[in-house]
Amino acid sequence: MFCRHKKAALPRAFLLAAAFLAVFSLFGCDVQPAQGNAASAPSASFAQKNETQVYFLDVGQGDCELIRLKSGQTVLIDAGTGETSARLTDYIKNLGVTRVDLLIATHPHEDHIGGMAQVVRSFPVGKVYMPKIADSQVPTTSVYEKLLTAIRDKGLTVSQASGGDEIYSAGDETMRVFAPNSSKYSGLNSYSVVVKLTCGQKSFLFTGDAEADSEKEMLKKGYDLKSDVLKCGHHGSSTSTSAAFLKAVGPGAAVISCGVDNDYGHPDAAVVARLEKAGVAIYRTDRQVTILARCDGTQIEFSTGLPSVVEK
Ligand SMILES: [Zn+2]
Repeated sequence: MFCRHKKAALPRAFLLAAAFLAVFSLFGCDVQPAQGNAASAPSASFAQKNETQVYFLDVGQGDCELIRLKSGQTVLIDAGTGETSARLTDYIKNLGVTRVDLLIATHPHEDHIGGMAQVVRSFPVGKVYMPKIADSQVPTTSVYEKLLTAIRDKGLTVSQASGGDEIYSAGDETMRVFAPNSSKYSGLNSYSVVVKLTCGQKSFLFTGDAEADSEKEMLKKGYDLKSDVLKCGHHGSSTSTSAAFLKAVGPGAAVISCGVDNDYGHPDAAVVARLEKAGVAIYRTDRQVTILARCDGTQIEFSTGLPSVVEK
């Protein structure tokens, strides 16, 4: 059911990257693409620099973000589908990651937790965060059961994340949870754990598949939603990135994680138009493959065209 990338996708990505360079120079934005390294592979060894690195990994039709904090700690938000689970752990190992300090399952859907049991089995893991799901909606899927078993087998427990929690703070980096804010939602997507990462003067908002109902709550709660980079909710679906939410976040760049020619029509044309109208630079994993954002506290620099987790 999940589409793989076409081989022709990469040259198209380069063209788009070039187009974004042009757009950024027009806006004089301080969220900018890296120049000259669009095709560079992730380095095999990670020498910790004075920067935060955020990988928006191309896992096809799914979500997975890897954050390397200045402290050397590693955060993984979601882990893509089961189809790419082995390749995901290899990919992360090749980046030099030896431990996942914070593991966040935004919500228990296969395109977010499918590869997570393998992550738990493959790395030492610090803390695991998930949303609290209402009893009547707790999934009975094998992928969810397998993840819980892997967590239990490792002697780990699950911490429930909810709006207002601070889950990381060191130096000028913090991670705060903005959602979920209710004990019950109509669908699993809106239980998504939403996290804001701040690095110095810059920030990223990771929204999982949170839909408009959760966005509305976050607005109502008065959280400091303003962020330089928005990982659009629900793969750019029309259910998310509502006009009011986008206005409050006011990003310079947005990242949409979705598969090439996916069956769901993600991202939604109206969402893309809304982002464009607001002058937001759009990065898409279906077109620009794995995307890396590096933040030194005052600027964010993007690299695109990094290797995919999906087998070509
Ligand atoms: Zn999803």
